[in-house]
Amino acid sequence: MTTLRGDLHVHTCLSPCADDNLTPAIAVGMAKLAGAELIAVTDHNSARNLPAAQIACQAYGIHLLPGIEVNTAEEIHLLCYFPSVETALEFGDILYHALPEFPYDPQVWGRQLVMDVDDHVLGQIEKLLTGAVRMSLKEVAELCRRMGGVPAPAHADADSYSVFSVLGGWPMDVDFDLYEIKFPQRAEKLMRAGLLPADKPLLTSSDAHYIEAIGNQMSILESSSPLLHLLK
Ligand SMILES: [Zn+2]
Ligand SMILES: [Zn+2]
Repeated sequence: MTTLRGDLHVHTCLSPCADDNLTPAIAVGMAKLAGAELIAVTDHNSARNLPAAQIACQAYGIHLLPGIEVNTAEEIHLLCYFPSVETALEFGDILYHALPEFPYDPQVWGRQLVMDVDDHVLGQIEKLLTGAVRMSLKEVAELCRRMGGVPAPAHADADSYSVFSVLGGWPMDVDFDLYEIKFPQRAEKLMRAGLLPADKPLLTSSDAHYIEAIGNQMSILESSSPLLHLLK
């Protein structure tokens, strides 16, 4: 496969912090309009809107990279990408059991809508998906790899939920093949200071939580990217 341009970090209405009108079908359609050839739908700790996204991707003629944005026990966000929707769903089930029991109120936190491709609500998730799972960054990364996936720290240079904000820099006990940055200029400074690696492929994505944000930052994946190898 040659290079592909895509938005590799997009939420849907399954994430409580995302808009309810950001359905999987609309997310995929907006990515197509933005010129993406590939979209990774990456809701917090769940893959339940990937089946609808997969059907929408087939209809729009773009690739789906199945993903989940995990909130680890350290409260670091880790993007986990998978070779199939089925594997992502299986990984999501493991995460769900590792989420805390919490008196989740959709009125306070936002709804967590599971949708079909025609924008019908199939159900809602009962546990708060933005909670931290009882698995460390290392444990989540290792499980992702064992299941054939590729883990990549999300917004590694950000002020919250990142390897930089939580650990002060790159993790000591687990390495990654690539990572996502939020602010390229700032990330460069952190690389010069030795806090983030300068020799790894970088992803820049929208981290969209509302419709208009989709595609406002995209990545070009080279043919050597481990993420392209996940696509059939
Ligand atoms: Zn995040
Ligand atoms: Zn995100």
